[in-house]
Amino acid sequence: MEEGEAALNVALEQLKIAAEKLNLDPGIHEMLKHPKRSLIVSLTIKMDNGELGNFIGCRVQHNDARGPFKGGIRYHPNVTLDEVTALAMWMTWKCAVVDIPYGGAKGGICCNPKEMSTGELERLTRRYTSLILDIIGPHRDVPAPDIYTDAQTMAWIMDTYSQFKGYSVPECVTGKPLSIGGSEGREEATSLGVVICAREAAKHIGLKFKGAAVAIQGYGTVGWNAAKIARDMGCKIVAVSDSAGGIYCPDGLNPVDIYEHKSKTGSVVNYKGCKNITNEDLLTTGCDILIPAALENQITKANADKIRARIVVEGANGPISLEADKILYEKGILLIPDVLANSGGVTASYFEWVQNLTREHWMLQEVNRRLENKMGKAFSAVQKIAKQEESDMRTAALMLGVGRVSEAIKTLGLWP
Ligand code: NAD
Repeated sequence: MEEGEAALNVALEQLKIAAEKLNLDPGIHEMLKHPKRSLIVSLTIKMDNGELGNFIGCRVQHNDARGPFKGGIRYHPNVTLDEVTALAMWMTWKCAVVDIPYGGAKGGICCNPKEMSTGELERLTRRYTSLILDIIGPHRDVPAPDIYTDAQTMAWIMDTYSQFKGYSVPECVTGKPLSIGGSEGREEATSLGVVICAREAAKHIGLKFKGAAVAIQGYGTVGWNAAKIARDMGCKIVAVSDSAGGIYCPDGLNPVDIYEHKSKTGSVVNYKGCKNITNEDLLTTGCDILIPAALENQITKANADKIRARIVVEGANGPISLEADKILYEKGILLIPDVLANSGGVTASYFEWVQNLTREHWMLQEVNRRLENKMGKAFSAVQKIAKQEESDMRTAALMLGVGRVSEAIKTLGLWP
């Protein structure tokens, strides 16, 4: 089974578990199994060598009962419609869990951004925006960055959208650079939320957060910022990795130095004084807190039994398979699920959208205060359900998310 299909199977199985627990109306369950709308687009651009480049992209809008669709755009060679559909569904639950007025969506283009020039990526982004233009917009569907897309990508989307409209529309996209209406703290928000969850989880199991040993898979936006924030809060970062491999340093490493090393060499590996390890080693390394912050399906039944962390916080979306979930639970490892753990990113995106709509700009302290408040409330709400239901945190979070969406669907009623 290819990765995208596996991710969608996981998402559907999770929905089924929540539906059974909530005694959900079968009609609503069926409705939520499918996205409201999926658009596949064919993208042809001029490559730098003068040839034409052909790519396939999509935008999947899962559910908008609680507000406009919201979700990132991913550029990756393995992007498939199934994967993007799973990610869109997770966005629906995530926005509901953290209680922001959005539905869920996701977009993707099957391409290899590492082999493309900035000019090619700009043309691809603008072409993609023009083809999904009719279904996005500040009150319809608001894109954001995801794997291998960033603030610059969002700037190109905003400009393309604004050129078509004839006026500037910063609120059509979030995760923008500060100079064109981005929010303070957006870049680090997902990671701040991840680390807040790790801190709350540590409190819950009586683990001393200060000095806790942390291992992080993936050293992109989420991974590297999580390393920096966790270290600032007193944790010891003992291992990190990226697509080329990982490094281990039991005495703790300095995330900023590693970031500079990666910027120069392209990877975290071969950092002086650290031992090179594989991604598989990283996941099973001895640590207190493990943060998968790369791709889906990284902890499966093949390696779940070897995980030695006491807490696993899902920085990435869908990094743990269903079988692995069970194994971790039976081993007594506390798992903080993606729909809760990485919801800080979409929450800060929501703050950015509110600032754009009201033409305001909040200070960093204000953004972080609101983020801490939203994450804290969501964590407590999920924990309360887990206690009542005697369930793991994933089941509890899904019950909260799916329950809120189902409530909105029932309240709206059906048209016609
Ligand atoms: P990114 O592109 O900035 O970073 C991805 C990192 O993963 C890179 O360091 C890359 O080298 C590494 N990687 C790729 N393949 C790998 C492999 N096989 N093993 C180990 N590392 C590998 O992406 P990001 O924005 O940091 O997103 C990471 C994850 O977090 C994704 O699942 C994404 O959906 C999720 N997420 C991101 C945000 C956000 O605000 N950026 C919000 C919520 C969830």
